[in-house]
Amino acid sequence: MSGKLSSRIVDAIRSVVGTRPVGLHEPTFVGNELSYLKECIETTYVASKGSFIERFESYLSEYTGSRFVVAVSSGTAALHVSLVLAGVEANDEVLIPDITFVATANAVTYCGAYPHIVDCEEENLGLDVPKLKRYLEDNTEQRSGVCVNKNTQRVIKAIVPMHVFGHPVELDSLLEVAHNHQIKLIEDAAEALGSFYQGKHVGCFGLMGALSFNGNKVLTTGGGGAILTDDKELGERARHLSRTARVEHPWNYDHDEVGFNYRLPNLNAALGCAQMEQLESFLADKRRLFGRYQGAFHGIPGLRMIEEPPASKSNYWLQTLILDGEYASERDHVLAAANEHGYQTRPIWRPMSDLAVYGHCPRMENLTSKTLAARALNIPSSPGIDKDVR
Ligand SMILES: *Cc1c(COP(=O)(O)O)cnc(C)c1O
Repeated sequence: MSGKLSSRIVDAIRSVVGTRPVGLHEPTFVGNELSYLKECIETTYVASKGSFIERFESYLSEYTGSRFVVAVSSGTAALHVSLVLAGVEANDEVLIPDITFVATANAVTYCGAYPHIVDCEEENLGLDVPKLKRYLEDNTEQRSGVCVNKNTQRVIKAIVPMHVFGHPVELDSLLEVAHNHQIKLIEDAAEALGSFYQGKHVGCFGLMGALSFNGNKVLTTGGGGAILTDDKELGERARHLSRTARVEHPWNYDHDEVGFNYRLPNLNAALGCAQMEQLESFLADKRRLFGRYQGAFHGIPGLRMIEEPPASKSNYWLQTLILDGEYASERDHVLAAANEHGYQTRPIWRPMSDLAVYGHCPRMENLTSKTLAARALNIPSSPGIDKDVR
């Protein structure tokens, strides 16, 4: 039995990506990467000055429609600065999904605040909005314009939805719930460059949004991130805070608050510019790969692939298989078989509620996310891996 499902899955992957070993998500450098990097070296502008930083920011602003974009050194840094600017302070609580990369929870912790763990839904693994709505109605109350957790007496200042593997969460209803409870919304759009909800780029719905350009993301700057906002003042504050809060002056060093050294070096921005120029082709490749996998898995009982939600356009960052409940115990066999054949395949992250470091955090009960995470796995997703097959 166990042999059967895993070998059918391996056969399906092979029919799409061929027989050679493939990684989970590898960067693709087939554009102007080398020439832009060379320009940085030749001009000596490798660090905090240089034209690629502004250019990368304006590429991102144009593509996402976000009025203000601040390039920073990582997606985690983008989240941290956004939370600080949303007013998250020590002993506040910030709602985060159980299914996310640890950076979401860490950024909350850097503010001295407590992550408060919310359940995720079956379909796309995003925040379960109807469940959140009931939960907030039962467990919180408004006190002088802020949302207070009745169980801990702490203020719930913000919520950070995450668009899992690039699939947009239900932003419409989530914004309404957040608004009704006076909770600020910051989007963790780290995985979702190229994803749109009702025609608008994700990361542009809340007060601020965070993107990541880590090595395995849709596009990479080596390491890097960006803060998105439509609010001019927040945009300026984000820039200031992420550049050590230095007061602009040709030679003087003056810093008017405690800032962070979170700027993105010109070298990394140069890589980002070259990658942005190829974004549309990466996205087209990923969408085609999804279609091929879907065809290959069709008719295999006991599993499904995550698809973009209605009214959304997903970037299909990581292709994801969900095993049906009765096949949950097969997951490790599938992982072993696929990896043995050279197809890098991984379980999704351990849910935040299962991490020892976040064991003390407030959370919903009966988290569906736990069983869900135990049935999900990511299969090879790099753009173009299906190209010369067949
Ligand atoms: C990649 C990622 C981040 C940010 O990661 P960095 O490595 O700091 O750029 C944050 N949240 C999620 C959900 C991510 O996948």
